[in-house]
Amino acid sequence: MNLDKKNIQKLEALIADANKITLCTHQSPDADTIGSALALSNVLLQMGKQVKVVCPNTPPDFLDWMVGIDSILVHDKEGKEVYNAVVEADLLFAMDFNAPHRTANVEKAMLDSSAKKVLIDHHLFPEENYFDLMFSFPKKSSTCELLFEILDNSNFKKYLNVDIATNIFVGIMTDTGSFAYSCNEPSTFEIVAKLIRLGVNVKETHDIIFNNNTIERLRVLGLGINDKLKVFPDKKAAYISFSKEELSQFGDSEGLTEGIVNYGLSIKGICFAALLTEKGDKIKISFRSKKEFNVNAFARENFEGGGHFNAAGGKSFLSLKDTEKKLENLISNFKI
Ligand code: 5GP
Ligand code: MN
Repeated sequence: MNLDKKNIQKLEALIADANKITLCTHQSPDADTIGSALALSNVLLQMGKQVKVVCPNTPPDFLDWMVGIDSILVHDKEGKEVYNAVVEADLLFAMDFNAPHRTANVEKAMLDSSAKKVLIDHHLFPEENYFDLMFSFPKKSSTCELLFEILDNSNFKKYLNVDIATNIFVGIMTDTGSFAYSCNEPSTFEIVAKLIRLGVNVKETHDIIFNNNTIERLRVLGLGINDKLKVFPDKKAAYISFSKEELSQFGDSEGLTEGIVNYGLSIKGICFAALLTEKGDKIKISFRSKKEFNVNAFARENFEGGGHFNAAGGKSFLSLKDTEKKLENLISNFKI
């Protein structure tokens, strides 16, 4: 699978033939899935298409300034509208995820839909049978970078504008931890240069994402680092876990604990970090690693998850205590 002219022509033809187009984002939406979906929806709206962007659950508050975000349909709030938008579409896009199950409560609609399906994504192991056309590039920093490359090399280039560029920039900036990882290719920076020429303001955009914390986000980080961080120096591992009660003290809004996993990984000598958060009937887990530790495989094998080599996620249906025990047991066998 590559970004050859033929695939771009196929995409142009699929879009030309479609009127109702729905863009799907993954569960616990981040800036890459939202940014890429809103950017492509902006292009499609300029073309006069009937476009909907659907999310399984509410996007985090720190993305509420993104152009187009108010038009997103959220399954947790508007289940019927989301189901209809997916099932009645002529063309569906999977933005920044590799298989329908990554949309949780939107999966059924995706499976029921007879629309043509296009994948634009940078996760490993796409579900090939589901899609009619795939742009699957696991080496790309982000889906936003990939989307820009597609748009810039297609007849959609004329629709690029500052709003599209900003939404794309946010996805690249956040998926690379402000250009710290997954961005060792000059092409990422060449694309960013084009985004700046389209009008992106780097400082303003960085500030609105990273210097716009709620007090609750800072306080939960404080609790995590002071009281909840467990470090296993011999195993080069660290993790933080939060119970439902601990999170509810801070309001447990979407995105409350986003980024906290990276603090474990920032400790000298640590190569594996995890963050456990108790959500409803399950424990959501984020994994991050340095160097050669493959957290994608670790999450797949042990916690029904996946993601990338150095950043992945998973879940557990054990209690928080038993999930911690399971994780500590796995850590005790590490030979990093
Ligand atoms: P995060 O820890 O930020 O939620 O996720 C890190 C990466 O792992 C993201 O690329 C995300 O898409 C992926 N990821 C998170 N949770 C899951 C999961 O349950 N299954 C799979 N396959 N990927 C996940
Ligand atoms: Mn991504």
